[in-house]
Amino acid sequence: MSSTTTSEEINRDTGQRVMEPLITNIQRYSLQDGPGLRTTIFLKGCPLRCPWCHNPETQSVKQEINHFLDKCTGCGKCAEACPTGATYIEKERGEVNLRFDRNKCTGCGACVNACLYEARQLVGNKMTMDEVIKEAVADRMFFQNSGGGVTISGGEPLFFPEYTAELARRLKWEEAVHLAIDTSAYCQWRHLAELVKYADLFLVDLKTMDPVKYKEVIRGDLKVIQSNLENLIRAGARIRIRLTIIPDFNNSKEDFEAYVNYIASLPGKITAVDILPFHSYAENKYALLGRLGNYKYRDFKSLFGEDVVDLLKAMAPVARAHKFECTVGGLSGVTAQSLS
Ligand code: SF4
Ligand code: SF4
Repeated sequence: MSSTTTSEEINRDTGQRVMEPLITNIQRYSLQDGPGLRTTIFLKGCPLRCPWCHNPETQSVKQEINHFLDKCTGCGKCAEACPTGATYIEKERGEVNLRFDRNKCTGCGACVNACLYEARQLVGNKMTMDEVIKEAVADRMFFQNSGGGVTISGGEPLFFPEYTAELARRLKWEEAVHLAIDTSAYCQWRHLAELVKYADLFLVDLKTMDPVKYKEVIRGDLKVIQSNLENLIRAGARIRIRLTIIPDFNNSKEDFEAYVNYIASLPGKITAVDILPFHSYAENKYALLGRLGNYKYRDFKSLFGEDVVDLLKAMAPVARAHKFECTVGGLSGVTAQSLS
């Protein structure tokens, strides 16, 4: 594997080794990221570039700016405050327009403070690990009542292996919460192996079984991901494999067959396969980040249960034979078992 795309080495945005990620969100009352009521910590930074990413604000490690066009009056206070000229006023043929050159933006936040209309928002908070943990376990009582806990997600938690290992250790061994790790498994095995000590559950995304598409579209290496997933199984970890089904990417009959055949051949027990149909809710996030023009899935319609029912049906006998749950939509969704 290339040394520039793993979680440990050089980060593609800054050229620096990343130790402490920014946090984009600590989301409470989450029902999608593991069992029960959960709090999900979203770390900012990912080595992959899935063109459909549902959380584009977590891809870059750097602070970014959300610009809410519906709130913006064009008053220009942000341009006056901007020290780098990233936000500026352009006068053209009698018209005055606010411009934003994101390549020049350092994420200093001066425009956010200058705006009286809350039309700008900084994406990516600097928080100490103490602050992250305090907020993450605030709903401990709900975790206990619902069988929930904390999920570390992103971005890619394994893009920050030392940080994630320490956060996981403290959440599990000091706070004693149920802990899930949401990962693409695109990392060095030794980093994932470290997390087996702390995590109660791994949510592993398997984006396609086609190595060429993995490399050319997502910028990952399927061999590394398969090897890590199989090692996790051999290590006895509890695993829910997540198949996000994307139009024109992995929703053909051949794609479905490849998923079923691979999962049937795994070297041991998994807990579940969750089939997650593509949804279009992320479009607004791309707009806020000024990336809508480059968003490949702009105007694509969401998929629904009926769009993946063939995969669910094909997976059902494997799920029965290998005794794992198979759902559409995750823990709150329809199961393959309910088909029979
Ligand atoms: S200060 Fe706020 S409202 Fe005024 S132009 Fe900038 S973003 Fe828009
Ligand atoms: S965050 Fe700083 S550099 Fe970026 S647009 Fe705002 S003021 Fe300019």
